[in-house]
Amino acid sequence: MSRFDPIDGADYGACDDCGITLPTEQAAKDHRAATMSPGKSSHRTRASNPTRVDRIQSHVDGVVEDAISEALDDLRNEVGRANVTWDEIHEALKWHSEFADEWEKQS
Ligand SMILES: [Zn+2]
Repeated sequence: MSRFDPIDGADYGACDDCGITLPTEQAAKDHRAATMSPGKSSHRTRASNPTRVDRIQSHVDGVVEDAISEALDDLRNEVGRANVTWDEIHEALKWHSEFADEWEKQS
């Protein structure tokens, strides 16, 4: 049992719109598909007991986002101290697309 394992025997989640219990991820997918209609979005489902895959994904997403955010703070400080220009950093980030994308957002 690791911190990424779902709680044994607990339901996967529930529907925010109609409140029904969704025992599994598949039940949630099926429910969203069943409530999908033209021009309207499906019911929103909430995972109170996410799958191992989802727990790992969200942890990794968080770690990567933190790393990007910390790196950009460092780089922004260098620009702030006039040690380097925004464009020079942008050029140097060419092999680091996720960092470059975030850097472009703050131009
Ligand atoms: Zn529903």
